[in-house]
Amino acid sequence: MGVDKPGVRNRPIIFRPGIERIGLAIAFVCTALLCWAATATAGPTATRTVYALGQIVPIPASIPHEAGDMVDRRILPNLRWLAQRYPIYVTDGYSGPLPTGEHAGCDNCHTRGSDHHNGLAVDIVPVGGGTKCDASWAPITRLALWAEPRPGMPSPPFRWVGYDGDAGHGCGHHLHLSWNHAVVAEFELAEWVEVFPVGPAPPGAEKPPRKKRPAAPKPPPGPSGGISTVRTGGLAPRID
Ligand SMILES: [Zn+2]
Repeated sequence: MGVDKPGVRNRPIIFRPGIERIGLAIAFVCTALLCWAATATAGPTATRTVYALGQIVPIPASIPHEAGDMVDRRILPNLRWLAQRYPIYVTDGYSGPLPTGEHAGCDNCHTRGSDHHNGLAVDIVPVGGGTKCDASWAPITRLALWAEPRPGMPSPPFRWVGYDGDAGHGCGHHLHLSWNHAVVAEFELAEWVEVFPVGPAPPGAEKPPRKKRPAAPKPPPGPSGGISTVRTGGLAPRID
């Protein structure tokens, strides 16, 4: 009969612009997501240098960790920020002697000159993760890519990122993160540490000391966990 079904012929004229708008909206959302994804893997957008006095302290419960793990307190805000965004579990932080004569962290497990010996590095696995590179490691892989978007080029303030492609590191093993810091002897505290800002800087924390500091106090007898007397701004070799 050739009778048009009611409404069919006219409907596209009415709805096509709407469909186009929906298409444009989808394209916009996808573009926004792509931009977000690119930003999400770009690493910290800013850093600051902290001259506040360092101290090796226990890692608080808000940052999942192995019992007894310690770090320089100046990286705790960054670790807390990371723990709120990634399911991190710290397996080792500071490794070395304490002023009390005790020992923190694993013993003789890091290479000479390791940032672990200054409390400015952490080894990370996923909370509840095993030794198999499975889905539980995906957030840790994202964190590794955030800290080091391109191989061999960690985003400041990170000094060295050990993960896939680095011997003894990677998915199913562990992620190593080090923070930039002043050159310092092993088992001593760096004069400054570079971090990414997570809130207002404490008064004076970002300013280098104006006056020449008095001579550093003599370290206590025995293993030192004391203050660095090194005043140079260079960096030690990259060692985990
Ligand atoms: Zn490490």
